[in-house]
Amino acid sequence: MLSVMPKRIADESLASYLLRLSLRNGFTSPLEWLDKPMWSAVTKNTISIKQRQLLSELVPCAMSTSDLSLAPKHSILFLDCHTDMPRICPYCVKGKGYLKEKWRNIGNLSCELHGCVLCDSCQECGEQLIWSPLLLQGTCTNELCLCPIKSYPISSQINELFIDEICDCLLASLFIQNPYTTVLPIYHHPSVSDFNSTLEQGFNFLSGKEVYDQFIERLGDAISPFSQLPEKFQFFPLTLLIRHLNAAWPINNCYVSFLQTPQVSSSSNRHIESFIVTFDSAIKLLGITKKQIFHTFPELSAKKVIPQNQQIDIAAIINRTTISVADM
Ligand SMILES: [Zn+2]
Ligand SMILES: [Zn+2]
Repeated sequence: MLSVMPKRIADESLASYLLRLSLRNGFTSPLEWLDKPMWSAVTKNTISIKQRQLLSELVPCAMSTSDLSLAPKHSILFLDCHTDMPRICPYCVKGKGYLKEKWRNIGNLSCELHGCVLCDSCQECGEQLIWSPLLLQGTCTNELCLCPIKSYPISSQINELFIDEICDCLLASLFIQNPYTTVLPIYHHPSVSDFNSTLEQGFNFLSGKEVYDQFIERLGDAISPFSQLPEKFQFFPLTLLIRHLNAAWPINNCYVSFLQTPQVSSSSNRHIESFIVTFDSAIKLLGITKKQIFHTFPELSAKKVIPQNQQIDIAAIINRTTISVADM
């Protein structure tokens, strides 16, 4: 099917190589000669051994084991630190015409040759870049835009972050998007549109008092779904974030002083419909006993092992506890 077979470049990503093969053989997309699950597995870094064997019948180098191997886990949110969407240095691409494997790893924020930020979206139209052969020319993959992708210098504070800190910033950004997060999502890999702004947003939260204060205000606000609850539930999202950070940040100090300051809490109607947390959070972060949980969920007590991320709705436990405290 493929008559022209250029060599794969040593540091080239498999997705980039398949895009290049497509162009060299007169196709406009890998989907014209690969099935959708295969191409999706290559871009998402979930390619199985069987798929790799199938692919190697068309592309011999696909069996090479040098592809994105799973690094140690850095984030509670995902196992694999490689993005499923492309990130590129437009200057390198213009000069060389291929995409490097290392650009997919979120531990690399900038191009080591050009010092500019790796782009995952177009500055001109704002669209996220997709896996298209247009990338190989450094062109925006939005067909209505097609502008050259432009990069910009990266702030030194952010550029110096290590992978664990980068993962912390992504975690923090979740809480900016939804302050009332009580269960962390679990993904295979980081999947954010506009990675660089998301990172910066998380960084500002973890390192600046101003964003932290706004967050506390939102948790304490009357429109919070938890506004009627005792403070350990009302401010639980903050505890959840702090307990899952890898590194020490200024926000950790804010948290310490928060714990030392009694919060003003309203107590008119302490009743809640739903409060979903993991089994692990209920026990370790909220001090709920196994006995209380098994009383409400007898089916759990029959289980030999309860997965730590088993989700439970503890509303009944909260309502019962707050009433009994009020009665005392
Ligand atoms: Zn570069
Ligand atoms: Zn564009």
